[in-house]
Amino acid sequence: MLWIDCPWCGARPETEFRYGGEAHIARPEPAATDDAGWADYLFMRSNPKGVHAERWMHREGCRRWFNALRDTVSNDVLAIYPMGTPRPDASGGEAGNE
Ligand SMILES: [Zn+2]
Repeated sequence: MLWIDCPWCGARPETEFRYGGEAHIARPEPAATDDAGWADYLFMRSNPKGVHAERWMHREGCRRWFNALRDTVSNDVLAIYPMGTPRPDASGGEAGNE
């Protein structure tokens, strides 16, 4: 079973959480994008084999959202970090925004 370390509640089983999709998807200004750009924003997501930045919500606990870096091959959660902060690099250090 996958265990996720909620920043507020501690380690809990995956079944208490809701997956919220890929993290760091920036909403484009509607007037500044065309239909193809808007469709990309709505529907196109990366599907990496390896480290993936994801949004999670502790549905059966504090009900707060946070971001996680998860390796999609090993299912290891490599980092947990607040919404709105830059994605850390896979080794746990800080990196630039994506
Ligand atoms: Zn929690």
